[in-house]
Amino acid sequence: MTIKKVLVTGATGRTGSLVLKKLWQRPDEFQGIGFARSQEKAKELFGSTEGFFYGDINDQSSLESALEDCDALVILTSATPKMKAPPQSGQRPEFEFAPGGYPEKVDWLGQKNQIDAAKKAQVKQVVLVGSMGGTNPNHPLNSIGNGNILIWKRKAEEYLIHSGLPYTIIRAGGLLNEVGGKRELVVAKNDTLLTNPPNGIATSIPREDVAELVVQALGCSEALNKAFDVISKPENDPSAILTSDFKGLFAKTTSGL
Ligand code: NAP
Repeated sequence: MTIKKVLVTGATGRTGSLVLKKLWQRPDEFQGIGFARSQEKAKELFGSTEGFFYGDINDQSSLESALEDCDALVILTSATPKMKAPPQSGQRPEFEFAPGGYPEKVDWLGQKNQIDAAKKAQVKQVVLVGSMGGTNPNHPLNSIGNGNILIWKRKAEEYLIHSGLPYTIIRAGGLLNEVGGKRELVVAKNDTLLTNPPNGIATSIPREDVAELVVQALGCSEALNKAFDVISKPENDPSAILTSDFKGLFAKTTSGL
């Protein structure tokens, strides 16, 4: 399967922008197009407003136009909690979602819109980046702003799986803003990495490694119709073997939620 033209949503986000940059670094293989709602943010991050389609994931027609002739869709949008105010000393910060930015709207309806538009465009693959923790309704992330973010994300994953579109669902551990390509990646399922992390390692992964996984998954038959959790071993872990065989990594993963 050849994947050339790829739409990346959330392209002005922290991981989406890394995916788009990686696609642009491989012009022989890919034609990457960013989907974003803010020209100002695109300019700030990329130095230009070119290479983007501007729209909103709540606007079905903008998604349908953006996906015309695309081979693949990468979903990297997400509701993002914001701190209400700097906490008083000794207090924990409180978080909330902006009006219109609640997980039900962004992570469920907004992702459903993207999947529906991808189906209409008959794309060959949808790569969705989500989060570990979705098997636990009492996960602390669900209580942020009463948003139930992991529950809505999980619902969208289920919708994608049942859409009939070829999918790759990457559920990341805690995201780190650290350099990628320096760690061993570890895959599993059903949040077992959270409940029983190998050797008690932190359940995190650099955003750059997630972005590389997304790019490696595009057009890779071993990554098709797979859903998995992923974390990384620490950078200088003596037991770690740097991940370079992505096909082999995807081959260890399975289909279904
Ligand atoms: P992020 O920086 O918060 O980016 C989210 C993106 O979604 C932004 O680009 C935002 O646009 C876009 N977006 C939100 N609503 C939109 C709308 N209505 N229309 C168009 N775009 C919209 O994301 P991230 O931190 O890189 O996370 C990537 C994924 O990993 C998410 O699914 C997240 O839940 C998951 N994850 C995160 C963590 C963590 O530790 N943070 C852990 C595990 C998994 P703007 O740029 O205009 O704001």
